Amino acid sequence: MAPRDATAPANRRGFAFLNGADSSKIKIDGERVFPYPPRISCSLTENQRMAPFDDLDLRTQAAVELNEQVGRMDGARVVDSLAEGLRSLRGLLCLRLREDVEQNFGLDSLNLPSSAMEAERRLEREIDWYQAAVAALHACERGYVQADPAWCAAWVARMGRPDFHHSPEGRERLAQYLDLSRQEQRLHFANLLLKVTPEAGRAPLVLFRLYPAAIRAVTSTAFGDEQGAADVRTQQRAILPSIDDCHQCHAAVLDNGEVCPTCSNPLWTYNYLTTAD
Ligand SMILES: [Zn+2]
Repeated sequence: MAPRDATAPANRRGFAFLNGADSSKIKIDGERVFPYPPRISCSLTENQRMAPFDDLDLRTQAAVELNEQVGRMDGARVVDSLAEGLRSLRGLLCLRLREDVEQNFGLDSLNLPSSAMEAERRLEREIDWYQAAVAALHACERGYVQADPAWCAAWVARMGRPDFHHSPEGRERLAQYLDLSRQEQRLHFANLLLKVTPEAGRAPLVLFRLYPAAIRAVTSTAFGDEQGAADVRTQQRAILPSIDDCHQCHAAVLDNGEVCPTCSNPLWTYNYLTTAD
């Protein structure tokens, strides 16, 4: 099945990857996805071939840490899937939060002034820290990782951010999230995003309910728990029943890094999000 209105590279099942070689041209439902670092051909798995060199170092280290910490043998596969899934989710959230600016003010994200580029980096950091906390708590609750959630959250954060080691703010943020209930985490995250990206205030509220669930589904998928991911998707259907309406993916759980070019599953387009408003 050919992807509709999508110029993103697609796999054999018709779903697009956000992390294509020429990301500046990637569009989903006519929306340009934010630019990513250029990809370098390498070795090993498909995702690893697409990963930047720094990411490969981070992922290799994270895989070794996971295997040592919890006695697994498949750390490389888990890390590759989790890192790719979280990276893709971050890109989709940036798209959801920023598209209002582009639509209303005509700003070109490739030519933003330096202050706006710094704001973009702060936005990505905040997203990464929230993702790390939510993914770690889910991994510990579901028994994927039998370790201190604080260790697990730092492990996820290091996987995606080489600067985490030198970020007191990042460590403080993880500690804050780990002390909060799910609802409190969500509110805290939304408030932090508003400080960095005032446009976030225009996003449909349902986005902030679907997003942590999407992180949990990505985490379950990375650890090979298909039923766990399906359970999370059932929770998302209860939040936003219209996700079932997509004729291409029918709200199925996709592999980590895959995006449905029709509805943008695993983080749905405005057309779907606003049906709940
Ligand atoms: Zn779809």
